[in-house]
Amino acid sequence: AKAEFDTRICYYEREMDEHARQRRAMAHDLWVALEKDAFDLVYQVQKSVSTGEVTGYEVLLRWDRPGHGLVSPTDFIPLAEETGSIGPIGAWVLKTACLEAASWPEPYKIAVNVSGLQLAQLELVDLVRMVLFQSGLEPERLELEVTETAIIADKKRALYVLRQIKAMGVSIAIDDFGTGYSSLDTLRSFPFDKIKLDRSFMVEVETNEQSKAIIRAILALGRSLSVPVLAEGVETHAQLDVLRDEGCNEAQGFLLGRPGNIDWADLLDPPLSA
Ligand code: C2E
Ligand code: CA
Ligand code: CA
Ligand code: CA
Repeated sequence: AKAEFDTRICYYEREMDEHARQRRAMAHDLWVALEKDAFDLVYQVQKSVSTGEVTGYEVLLRWDRPGHGLVSPTDFIPLAEETGSIGPIGAWVLKTACLEAASWPEPYKIAVNVSGLQLAQLELVDLVRMVLFQSGLEPERLELEVTETAIIADKKRALYVLRQIKAMGVSIAIDDFGTGYSSLDTLRSFPFDKIKLDRSFMVEVETNEQSKAIIRAILALGRSLSVPVLAEGVETHAQLDVLRDEGCNEAQGFLLGRPGNIDWADLLDPPLSA
């Protein structure tokens, strides 16, 4: 039994080593990607539920890792946070997004994701100021998306940083709303400009009365606080119909548009509807 136990421990350790090795390799490749400017940005449209008009675009990071193909940000962002590259990666995203948006033919808003680690650093205030100055982007066209988890980590610091940024004219959205454990407390602590309802709430919304009741309650909360609500992860017409009936302000999801490059030709010359 002792021998069997030792073999199993040994196997377990080898697996741990392999896992750690792969993470180290990915962390290293992230730094290389930064150096080589190998990241890309894609944009996902956000629309008004009542009029269908474009209200803005969320900026999403893409990494085509040599030898591995596209790696999901849900896999590499946490690693970048643990290994320190999130600072420069986040700065690259902000700078590149503002520069690109400043040259768009239409002055749409962009919503940029900000990680908890960035939020805990005072440098973020200077970074936003510098990037707006360098790109010439109007501050009103920039929105930062922050999660409540990111705020809770160091709440005092995070709210201080957000206040400074908001004072520049940049707006702040609370991302993945409803998935954290103190959503209401977070809402009370800061004057957010938008609530982004997590996409888990869209599941079964057209068939499940419970889900619909929760969405209705959050929309009522948004209305009483005068904060518009955007529903994430809208994939079906049935979901969009519910959102319209319940008075949701904006929506984002595969139904309205996949993340990608913006097709200006289509936007500027909309095909005549029959
Ligand atoms: P998120 O901020 O909640 O972004 C929305 C994610 O949902 C995106 O995944 C988007 O492609 C996906 N999505 C959009 N519509 C639908 C839909 O209808 N159905 C489903 N199932 N999914 C939909 P993506 O691009 O893989 O990003 C995942 C997460 O990675 C983001 O979640 C965000 O937390 C993080 N992330 C992405 N880009 C950045 C960035 O530049 N900086 C930071 N700090 N985090 C980022
Ligand atoms: Ca987001
Ligand atoms: Ca989200
Ligand atoms: Ca086209």
